[in-house]
Amino acid sequence: MSAPTVEITVPKTGKTIKVSTGLFINNEFVPSVDSKETIQCINPATEDVIASVVAGSAADIDRAVAAARAAFKTTWGKNVTGFERARLIHKLADLIERDAQELAELETLNNGKPVRIARDFDIGDSVQCLRYYAGWADKIAGQSLEVDNKTKFAFTRHDPIGVCGQIIPWNYPIQMWAWKIAPALAVGCTIVMKPSELTPLTALKLSELIVEAGFPPGVVNTVPSLGSVGGAALSSHMDIDKVAFTGSTVTGRKIMEAASKSNLKKVSLELGGKSPHIIFESADLDQATNWALLGILYNTGQDCTAGSRLFVQESIYDKFMSALVSKAQQLVVTDGFDEKASGGPVVSKIQYDKIFKYIGLGKEQGAKCVTGGEKRPGKGYFVDPTIFTDVTADMKIFQDEIFGPVLSVTKFKTEEEAISHANNTAYGLGAGLHSNDANQCMRVANELEAGTVWVNQYNILYNNVPFGGKKQSGIGRELGSYALEEYTSVKAVHWNFGEKVDFPF
Ligand code: NAD
Repeated sequence: MSAPTVEITVPKTGKTIKVSTGLFINNEFVPSVDSKETIQCINPATEDVIASVVAGSAADIDRAVAAARAAFKTTWGKNVTGFERARLIHKLADLIERDAQELAELETLNNGKPVRIARDFDIGDSVQCLRYYAGWADKIAGQSLEVDNKTKFAFTRHDPIGVCGQIIPWNYPIQMWAWKIAPALAVGCTIVMKPSELTPLTALKLSELIVEAGFPPGVVNTVPSLGSVGGAALSSHMDIDKVAFTGSTVTGRKIMEAASKSNLKKVSLELGGKSPHIIFESADLDQATNWALLGILYNTGQDCTAGSRLFVQESIYDKFMSALVSKAQQLVVTDGFDEKASGGPVVSKIQYDKIFKYIGLGKEQGAKCVTGGEKRPGKGYFVDPTIFTDVTADMKIFQDEIFGPVLSVTKFKTEEEAISHANNTAYGLGAGLHSNDANQCMRVANELEAGTVWVNQYNILYNNVPFGGKKQSGIGRELGSYALEEYTSVKAVHWNFGEKVDFPF
């Protein structure tokens, strides 16, 4: 039996996008084994339901894992050359590039982000990510090690770790999909992907391209499901060798616990952040305001590295803040299908309510709201850029990840004070600083407790540079050659061509 499909109408053009609403297992869209539950997909700009997708069960996860295991043993894993993996990943990248406009429209309908940004940045980067890892696929190699030049040597193999569960969030549905599948496929792993229940549509659409690219059945499987059902089943599964997760720190803890209580599978976690962004008095102020706003307003602040705590040196504070606030007010936050949009709505009612709860707490705890902070009338989960000044370390808006366009600003006098404020958090994902003093840049970059530090820029990532967190922001690295280590298992082979052993020894 095949799974149902839905036709979604694109605003403005009236064109329809057909999406299968079932599970994708063994290169086919199929209904659930036993679940009658569905996930409602909502357009956050209009609050309309645009599709109902199957909510996969634990039994569906079992079926997908069995398909992935069979593929790993027969057509993928050690049964396929790196050259062939590279060819298929390149093909997939080409198909995504071909369908970029349609995929971007679907992403906007389900997630809210502007079509232009989804197409040119999220999808553009995803295509490049696939091509970057396609380049690695035929270059996975171990080491040859000298142990005794006369009789013995050793070598290492970097084997694909096996079947991987990949659990992704809703803020970059396509990009997180690409970041996860590209290195896993490059080394020869098979995959069971669980997209976020808020944004499953593009992962389902991309699954069609997996078939068209020519991947063998079972190499990539997609199971839309609730986190507490499908996500939990993946992390506790006895036949999954590795789980890769991007999402909140709270969920990351549950995943690690489930992995430790089941088969001790390898775990990588990309978690939350409350990233500091420091503006020193020697900085190029015009550029620093632009980067500070990009840092907090890109993707409507729904960004794990959002520079949500801004520290501005006292001597430039007034001048900097007046430019920052005036620019923030010029940002166009509207329906993602409006070509002028730089930001769309936030993803869901839950997210919208959470952001306004924090805005309320900021006001209650004595921070000064200098722009934004009010609800708009009408439909859609729109949140205007919101800036709080006079924020102190004891306030909730200073410590908690809000995941919205809400910036907390704190004044500082000295470099030591700025570093101490910046590191005063349980997180350690991103950090940024602006200064024209090279020695200061180096000193501060060295002191900041974060997996990524940006100097005189913010929030820019490249597929060949590793990304990940310190402290409670995660374990492991994505991107770059480092991500390959997350999906391989190193085997040491010791070879004897001459040494004799006496017995009894
Ligand atoms: P979330 O943790 O609620 O959900 C993320 C994914 O985990 C979803 O697919 C969800 O279904 C699943 N999940 C939920 N409960 C689960 C469970 N018990 N077991 C297994 N899986 C479960 O996070 P979210 O709200 O979707 O995303 C926002 C969070 O993600 C933010 O905290 C943000 O900082 C973080 N994030 C981090 C990065 C990064 O690279 N570090 C990138 C994007 C988002």
